[in-house]
Amino acid sequence: MDLVAQEHLRDAFVPLDDRLLEEFERYWVSVLPGRRTSDLALPYFHLKSDGFWSLVPRPGMEQVVAAVDQIRSLGPLRASVLGARLDPNLFHLLVQRDTRNALRQVLIETYFAPDLWPTLLDVAQIAVQSVAYETRLRGLVRQPFALQEAIATGLEYRVEARSTAFRRTVVTAYNATCAMCGVRLKTPEGRAAVAAAHIVPWSVSHNDDPRNGVALCGLHHWTFDQGLAAITIDLRVRVSTVIGDVEGTQPLRVLSGRGIHHPTEAKFQPAPDALAWHLEHVFRR
Ligand SMILES: [Zn+2]
Repeated sequence: MDLVAQEHLRDAFVPLDDRLLEEFERYWVSVLPGRRTSDLALPYFHLKSDGFWSLVPRPGMEQVVAAVDQIRSLGPLRASVLGARLDPNLFHLLVQRDTRNALRQVLIETYFAPDLWPTLLDVAQIAVQSVAYETRLRGLVRQPFALQEAIATGLEYRVEARSTAFRRTVVTAYNATCAMCGVRLKTPEGRAAVAAAHIVPWSVSHNDDPRNGVALCGLHHWTFDQGLAAITIDLRVRVSTVIGDVEGTQPLRVLSGRGIHHPTEAKFQPAPDALAWHLEHVFRR
C-alpha cells in the first residue's frame, strides 16, 4: 500500500526489490525493535494462500514454485520468482487513497494490538512524506547549490521522513558504494553498509541538498566526521597527518590522494562550497 501511495508501484506487479525490502524493514523495526532480522521471504511467499496474491515464477521454475510449500529466505525466493501479482480489482482499490486508507485501518486494527496502532500509522505517514521530500531533494540538483539555504523548516516534514529521503537519495546516487574506500555491501534484507553523511552537518547548515551529502561506510563516516579525512575540491581523499605513521593507520593512509568513487550521475557530485567548509572547519590540518 505504501509503495502504491508513493507511486513506486504503477501496476499490480510487485517486484521483490530493495524498495519493498526497505519498507518492510521499517515496519518490522517499529513493531519488533529488539529482533534484529526481518524476513520478507515468509510473508511474500505465504500470501499466495490468501487469494489476492499470486507468485510469478521465473521461466523454467513454474513446477518448483508450484511444488514447494515453503521458502524461508530471500536467496532461494529470488532464484525462483520474478515477483508477485496482486488481484487487479484489489490493485484498483489500492490506487484510490480513500479505499487504501480504509483497508490500512482495517488491517492494523484487526492484526495488531491497540498500543501499536499509532506507530504503524506513523510509519505509513513517514513513508509517504519521505517520497515527497525526496522528490524535492532531487529537484534541487538542477539549481545552483546554496550552502546556507535551509530546505526544510518547521514541522513541514517529520525528522524521520527527512533523514529517510536524504539517505535514499544520496545512497542511491552512489549506488550504495562508499565514496572513500569503494566498499559496497548489503545484507540479504537490503541493509547497506553505507550511510549518507552530511558534508556540512545538518545542525549547522539545515541543508539536505544531495550535493551536501556523500555515501560513506561506517568507518569512513566516522573518519570524515572526526576530521581525520576529507574530500578535496578536486574529489580526492585527503588524510590528516594527525593520525601519524603508526601501525594500524595504514588502511586509512593508503586512501590518501586517491580519487573518490563518484556518484553515477555527475549532478549529484559533492558541492565545492560544502567540501571547502568541511576542509576549513572539520578537517584536522
Ligand atoms: Zn569506506
